[in-house]
Amino acid sequence: MAGAEEPKPFKWVGGHLSLDFNNTVDWKGLEPGAGEYLTDYGRLVAWGHEAGVLSERDRDALLRTWGEQPALGRRILEKAWSARTTMHRVFLGTITGTPDLGAELPAINALLYEAPGQLACEASGRSCEWVWSSCEDDAACMIWPVVRAASQLLTSPQLADVKTCANGRCGWLFLDTSRKHNRKWCEMGVCGNRAKARRYYDRRKRQAEGG
Ligand SMILES: [Zn+2]
Repeated sequence: MAGAEEPKPFKWVGGHLSLDFNNTVDWKGLEPGAGEYLTDYGRLVAWGHEAGVLSERDRDALLRTWGEQPALGRRILEKAWSARTTMHRVFLGTITGTPDLGAELPAINALLYEAPGQLACEASGRSCEWVWSSCEDDAACMIWPVVRAASQLLTSPQLADVKTCANGRCGWLFLDTSRKHNRKWCEMGVCGNRAKARRYYDRRKRQAEGG
């Protein structure tokens, strides 16, 4: 199923499950699909595994399901894209006031209602942890922990630390946990350097024009 190009490695710069999920597409990529990390259902499953929401067993089972039911995989991929857009708009609403948060929330609530009751308590040594039970009946099972994590962040004091990358063409989100609370970029090496190069270019241009 892989295309001609190697898939882009996932980035983990958001500092939170739901923000890392937001950062699986370059939001203002020039061509549709050009900046997409979740290019097919297999990549969505791989992301879920790397993010820690799918066990190895679940990952392998879901990939088998995908092999048998490619159309189902495609439907779930589209659902994941749509959930990602919903969460993106809601977080932007909290950061910039645009779009209007109140108008966006019904879409995220619809996702929360849709999430099946799959959360269970499981023993981990002598303590317990919340786990999302089997993916056997639900090939969309990597989406629900992300939606739940987003709703938890939206209702927590940590929401004040959610920022959007200062590169207006990026759209990635991150938790700013820096001591001075002055993190500007999703990645200094990518968006920060681009901005630096841009400033250098503008300065040289002004100098050349005698400014
Ligand atoms: Zn960025």
